[in-house]
Amino acid sequence: MNKIYVIGIGPGSYEQMTIKAAEALKKCDVIVGYTVYVDLLREYFGEKEFLTTPMRQEVRRCEMAFEEAAKGRTTAMVCSGDAGIYGMAGLMYEIGEKYPDIELEIIPGVTAAIGGAAVLGAPMSHDCCLISLSDLLTPWKKIEKRLLAAAQADFVICLYNPSSKKRADYLDKACDLMLRYKSEDTVCGVVKNIAREGEAMQILSLKELQKTAVDMFSTVFIGNCDTKVIDGKMVTPRGYRYERD
Ligand code: SAH
Repeated sequence: MNKIYVIGIGPGSYEQMTIKAAEALKKCDVIVGYTVYVDLLREYFGEKEFLTTPMRQEVRRCEMAFEEAAKGRTTAMVCSGDAGIYGMAGLMYEIGEKYPDIELEIIPGVTAAIGGAAVLGAPMSHDCCLISLSDLLTPWKKIEKRLLAAAQADFVICLYNPSSKKRADYLDKACDLMLRYKSEDTVCGVVKNIAREGEAMQILSLKELQKTAVDMFSTVFIGNCDTKVIDGKMVTPRGYRYERD
């Protein structure tokens, strides 16, 4: 049976790709993906054929992968981070309904939340949730509802797609909603270019975050009521006290 590996390649550097992902890429004849991510791979898999499409052409990109696999070529569809987290895995299954003879294998990757968490310290050591601020595929009203529910439940919140040129004020709006339930001193973090050139992190209060401009290559972390700064790192306690043991 022809096969497509749907591969999360991690946040950027080769070292943060799983061994399983690298092994699957080695087995492939052709690698399909968004131009920026494919460029991260060329250095290591230069002998492969690469097929790319620009941003927002996700359906075309998936079809390209199925067309290649249908020709009998072992194919990889690559995504940054994990392919199942705001990635292409779901769309691949949906489009795959038209290609019953092609098998999909999903290979997990280090998503931006956990790559970024490691840079900040240990912000996600208690219950947490991921919310994307992009309203391209989700109505803003629904995003608002989820932000409010997560803030009310005191989750650690990790925001993907915190900004873009058209959505410059979305993080500001999200912080406004957070402030209905979270203190303005809540410890927050921003990590830019995780595992890529120019990696940078910043720890700040929720009030400061609201006034901070972030770009689309950043992931934002909003702590819970126990999150604190220890030696310049953002740390959410696990929730129990050691002295009890
Ligand atoms: N599938 C990806 C997410 C794609 S959505 C994953 O699992 O990580 C795109 C958003 O992910 C970006 O706007 C940003 O918020 C976050 N992101 C992805 N890679 C990143 C990186 N290397 N550094 C910082 N943020 C990143």
